[in-house]
Amino acid sequence: MNLELFTCEGNSKFTLSKVFVKGGYRCTTNGRMAIRIKCDEPDTEGNFPKLDDAFNEPFSEINPIKIVTPELEVNHICPECDNGRIYYNFQECTECYGLGTCRCGCPTEHACGTCGGDGGNYTKSKPCQFCDGTKKRYTKLQIGEWYYQGHYIKLACQELPNLTAIGLGKNGMLRLTFDGGECAIMPFTSTK
Ligand SMILES: [Zn+2]
Ligand SMILES: [Zn+2]
Ligand SMILES: [Zn+2]
Repeated sequence: MNLELFTCEGNSKFTLSKVFVKGGYRCTTNGRMAIRIKCDEPDTEGNFPKLDDAFNEPFSEINPIKIVTPELEVNHICPECDNGRIYYNFQECTECYGLGTCRCGCPTEHACGTCGGDGGNYTKSKPCQFCDGTKKRYTKLQIGEWYYQGHYIKLACQELPNLTAIGLGKNGMLRLTFDGGECAIMPFTSTK
């Protein structure tokens, strides 16, 4: 079980890029899904999300659904990567300090010549864990009126043994259990 796969590292400059311990749980989240596993370690130092929306809200129970790995769709592109790879570790441009605009003092503002206006660039990359580098998209999961991104379902199936959907919370938050822990996944759309 590699919880690091569920952090945000890879597609953002945000800070959710760490597995952390809070309130007796080892936790991880990428902003769209969260996982927690009971542990008896002290809280990790730092400001981490409480994950209340994911785990502490009431939910309606459903007939348990054993989750299986979704199929790859032939004609759709993985939305998470750039040609099968994920770029990360953003380094701010030292010329424009991440602003992306010129600092040459000329009267018309234009894009920084060093970074091309991007404000810097990603210095590391790895194969996409959402599509396994296939560049294709996994079929979305439908439960009731809600849809869940196939790449999150695939990743969860791969890492969390015996993954089973057990309930639906507010706004379609899917509640699941697996051997040793809990998982929650936000929907991306509803049929409503
Ligand atoms: Zn200039
Ligand atoms: Zn620059
Ligand atoms: Zn991908």
